[in-house]
Amino acid sequence: MKFDSFSSYIQRYQKGLPLLIAGPCSAESESQVLSIAEQLTKNEKVHVFRAGIWKPRTRPGNFEGVGYEGLKWLKRVKAEYKLQICTEVAKPKHVEAALKEGIDILWLGARTVSNPFSVQEIADSLKGVDIPVFIKNPINPDIHLWRGAIERMSHSGVTKIAAIHRGFYPYEDTKFRNIPKWEIPIELKTKFQHLPMICDPSHISGNRDFIEEIAQKALDLNFDGLMVETHHTPDLALSDAEQQITPEQLAQIIRKLVIRHDEIDKKSSVIFNYREQIDSIDQQLMELLSQRMDVVKKIAFYKSEQNITIFQLRRWENIIRTRSEWGKKLKLNAHFIEKILELMHKESIQIQNDIMNQTKEK
Ligand code: PEP
Ligand code: MN
Repeated sequence: MKFDSFSSYIQRYQKGLPLLIAGPCSAESESQVLSIAEQLTKNEKVHVFRAGIWKPRTRPGNFEGVGYEGLKWLKRVKAEYKLQICTEVAKPKHVEAALKEGIDILWLGARTVSNPFSVQEIADSLKGVDIPVFIKNPINPDIHLWRGAIERMSHSGVTKIAAIHRGFYPYEDTKFRNIPKWEIPIELKTKFQHLPMICDPSHISGNRDFIEEIAQKALDLNFDGLMVETHHTPDLALSDAEQQITPEQLAQIIRKLVIRHDEIDKKSSVIFNYREQIDSIDQQLMELLSQRMDVVKKIAFYKSEQNITIFQLRRWENIIRTRSEWGKKLKLNAHFIEKILELMHKESIQIQNDIMNQTKEK
């Protein structure tokens, strides 16, 4: 797949700065959309105005977007503030309406990308149309679904494709709404070296406090752009209120961001990317180990209450057998797995002993 020309298009467009896409989670009213656009143009670094019109909500009853009417408001943003406009499409009917009203860029949301049927329908509706399509990662940390959506668009003839990293459903404890798992976008970038990568710190953070940290991390990793949810009165927003920031707050964050230029030679940036993948995976390993030990503590309290012995041979044999089989399937060295299991078991016994002793003392 060839993304070279779009990649250089984005670079020319942004003139050495990250491509900055900003605007509300949802278009709510004409005056809301225009007022945000006006405030955003005071910060001349914003290139593209975003607003969701058809909102895919996890549960019914939440604000589901203003629908077709909102396209007219975006058109006014384009005419009056000279910003490119983009919105999310989830069905061919959305694509048709967006194209008719002159939307400049379409994006596919995380829920849509999770469903290959929908992605294919949208790809079919874009045959012969030369519009940029930005593809968010799917909800689950599955790189194949993400890659699949990019391939479906590309096979349909769409040439201007970028990926948007918005984090993944967190199966583990994390301070973020969606866990970044940076190793996944990095792997995607390694597979498609010229695919522009945009980071959406708003949906990763779920909270205003982490937007800057995530945006800086993305720039450090050489991402090409940022998509940041911005609202004139974030607390009153009808969707994603906690993560939206004002245009002024966005300008402050952008002023503070350190923009690195891609001068490191290719070899060292490859190593850098691999190291970032390892850092991210190790951090998740630590979080998983901590969760495992928390469960061990719960078992210890239960055993202590019920007067059950800490060490049970049959359970331990079962652990060794099942984990060794899992490890073998994953092509991990048997001796290495055995050593890790021994260490983990020793630590679990230690934790349980300590808890038993504490509860006895009481
Ligand atoms: C959005 O950008 O407002 C949105 C719904 O995002 P996502 O698809 O990443 O959840
Ligand atoms: Mn949102």
